[in-house]
Amino acid sequence: MSIAENLKTVQAQIHAAAAKAGRAPDSVRLVAVSKTKPAAAVEEAARCRQRLFGENYVQELVAKAGQVTEPVEWHYIGGLQSNKVKQIAGVVTMIHSVDRLSLAQEIDRQWGNLGRSCDILIQVNIACEATKCGTSTVELFALVRQVASLPHVRIQGLMTMPPFFDNPEGARPYFRELKRLAELIAAEHIPNVSMQELSMGMSGDFAVAIEEGATLVRVGSAIFGGRQ
Ligand SMILES: *Cc1c(COP(=O)(O)O)cnc(C)c1O
Repeated sequence: MSIAENLKTVQAQIHAAAAKAGRAPDSVRLVAVSKTKPAAAVEEAARCRQRLFGENYVQELVAKAGQVTEPVEWHYIGGLQSNKVKQIAGVVTMIHSVDRLSLAQEIDRQWGNLGRSCDILIQVNIACEATKCGTSTVELFALVRQVASLPHVRIQGLMTMPPFFDNPEGARPYFRELKRLAELIAAEHIPNVSMQELSMGMSGDFAVAIEEGATLVRVGSAIFGGRQ
């Protein structure tokens, strides 16, 4: 299957899942995860009007962003070291993977240098898996309050990556929990904190995530094919 055909299939599945949940189709944005794929694959998807792409590695993102000539928007979705933030400042429009204050402070500093603000999501490790990034549910509330005080960072919502399940239904409780946490935070009406975005769902489980309220789904292999 071509990237164009895969995109059509994924978009149809997104619309079907939104309809099933009684949600407007445009309440879900597709982040096409192009990590390990060449700039040509991004351009092919962009020519099919896919404009939003997600990347996990700083060097790869910076190189690819320099090569792609179509007008696209980049989100950073992977683990991020503070000393690399400078390289993506102004290149990405959102960072999904903020899980500690020191990282948020560096984003604040770098975007502040540009005279701009960065939209971010707080990544939550709901299952407390040692191998995954993300703040614990217990630390989440304190982290949100601390990050909210930074002038050049705008919290737009939460992101999670549940444990892997063969059956996507296994991920549903994690998606539901992320939504519940977002509602609890929203109810506190913290200045500079919006909970309008929920980044959850990947190739194997994005339909379930949409049923549970995802507004950003991060889909790679279902669009671009498998990775090594
Ligand atoms: C790779 C990756 C994805 C996409 O995974 P697929 O299973 O290929 O859709 C989504 N989110 C994050 C954080 C990733 O690292």
